[in-house]
Amino acid sequence: MRECDVLIIGAGPAGLSSALYAARAKLSTIMLDGSNPGGQIATTHEIVNYPGSPNDSGPGLIEKMYAQAKQFGAEFIREKVVEVDFSNSVKVIKTKEKEYHAKAVVIATGASPRKLGCPGEAVLTGKGVSYCATCDADFFTDLEVFVIGGGDSAVEEGMYLTKYARKVTLINIMDRLTAANSIIEKAKQNDKIEYILNSTVTEIKGDGIVESIVIKNVKTEEETEIFADEEEGTFGVFIFIGYKPQTELFEGLVEMDNGYIVTDEEMRTSVPGVFAAGDLRVKTLRQVVTATADGAIASVTAEKYIEHKF
Ligand SMILES: Cc1cc2nc3c(=O)[nH]c(=O)nc-3n(C[C@H](O)[C@H](O)[C@H](O)COP(=O)(O)OP(=O)(O)OC[C@H]3O[C@@H](n4cnc5c(N)ncnc54)[C@H](O)[C@@H]3O)c2cc1C
Repeated sequence: MRECDVLIIGAGPAGLSSALYAARAKLSTIMLDGSNPGGQIATTHEIVNYPGSPNDSGPGLIEKMYAQAKQFGAEFIREKVVEVDFSNSVKVIKTKEKEYHAKAVVIATGASPRKLGCPGEAVLTGKGVSYCATCDADFFTDLEVFVIGGGDSAVEEGMYLTKYARKVTLINIMDRLTAANSIIEKAKQNDKIEYILNSTVTEIKGDGIVESIVIKNVKTEEETEIFADEEEGTFGVFIFIGYKPQTELFEGLVEMDNGYIVTDEEMRTSVPGVFAAGDLRVKTLRQVVTATADGAIASVTAEKYIEHKF
């Protein structure tokens, strides 16, 4: 068994920032993650919207965050958390390997976009396939873009993408869009947006970059391959078919809304001594900058909590 002041579950941007702030406050700090540090951003080759770091790669930015957290004394252990017990003032966190006891816990296990699951999607992610318009829209300036999905985020992100792309085609599996009427009305006034309904993408093709997609009409079963404009050579495929918070472990333990953890502005969850930071929170903007801000706030609040409680 190991003891510490602050135990952070997840070492993405939120967890790393939380570790930096907790360790700098001289709290003994352990970060647990089932993978190497980094989270979602480690999977993208370019991040241009993190203030002060205009031209970095995801792994490059994470390397610096990780080094900074370690420099202040935070310890990283590569173990996946499989069970937690938040019922007493000392929290119990279990991995397959060990049991940890902590005075405060920061949950920072993130969220991930739902995948289509078709051939080509994984290998071409970051090479034309994206799940984040705020992050990647400008890479498709004056190019064509296909948006998969028909809900609020698909239509809203589709409208946002028209600021960059020369044309945006929304592909939805249903015979209509399911976004709110007010959003649909706005989209209909945008003459850069076209629609392909009753259809889904069954394959994304390309040699190192997206070059074509195969679309299947779910009513007629007919398949059509759409190729990139010859001069442009590529187009964007933005997938917005939902987002999944990684919070199953905490179900029934802390208050949630649709699987997202509810916190106050100081990152307190419904359980004293348990804080949450990053993409798994109920919030409107899921980005590195908001995840790191959450992590910092969570640790400062945890520090005050420990001071009063122990
Ligand atoms: C392809 C892509 C590109 C993006 N580009 C940008 C961009 O350009 N700019 C930007 O600001 N944002 C971007 N984002 C969004 C950004 O990556 C997220 O907002 C950010 O990573 C959220 O950080 P987080 O720490 O909350 O969660 P995550 O990054 O999801 O990290 C969560 C961590 O928790 C770990 N974990 C989960 N469950 C457990 C468990 N049971 N035990 C231990 N560890 C666990 C995971 O392994 C993971 O490392 C992008 C996202 C993607 C997918």
